[in-house]
Amino acid sequence: MIPCPACGQELNVVTAVYDTPYFGKILLTSINCHCGFKHSDSFSAEIKDPVRFKLEIKGETLFSKIVRSTSGTVRIPELGLAMEPGPASQGFITNVEGILLRFEEIVEMAKRWNSDNEEAVKRCDFILEKLRKAMEGEERLTLILEDPHGNSAIIDDGVFMERLTQREAESLKTGLTVLDITGEDYLRRAIEGEE
Ligand SMILES: [Zn+2]
Repeated sequence: MIPCPACGQELNVVTAVYDTPYFGKILLTSINCHCGFKHSDSFSAEIKDPVRFKLEIKGETLFSKIVRSTSGTVRIPELGLAMEPGPASQGFITNVEGILLRFEEIVEMAKRWNSDNEEAVKRCDFILEKLRKAMEGEERLTLILEDPHGNSAIIDDGVFMERLTQREAESLKTGLTVLDITGEDYLRRAIEGEE
């Protein structure tokens, strides 16, 4: 038995193995407890080098799988959006559309927080419009996924993958989600850890 770090009761542990074409086997573990404690993460047994994946977001790639471990950073450079690892971040498996929906929630939240800032609201509306168009396959954006521990992946035949240099791997931020809504960096805690 594995005791819950929050309350000491027995944890419920679920694991799933995903066999992916060039990325090898990915293990997703998810633990939860009656008290509400939960955590999930993904691990690759086969790639441990720092990696960067790049995928064009278009109609055909909306349902490509994304495996994001707790050390993965997801970006959409055209919109200045990034989801970075933080103390509360969880690993997850989703698809490109799922990523766009997460960003949409984050931007909606930032819009509410900045409702008295006309420029910020305008910028949020602009980003929201782009995200919605992308979900309809009408806006070409780029999805970048970087992981200094090589535990994240975009699974798509057309994905571009490269190894990060040591320097790039070390420069990856940890801790906060960055949302660039007015040209400055607005630091907002991610609404992660929901799953
Ligand atoms: Zn518990």
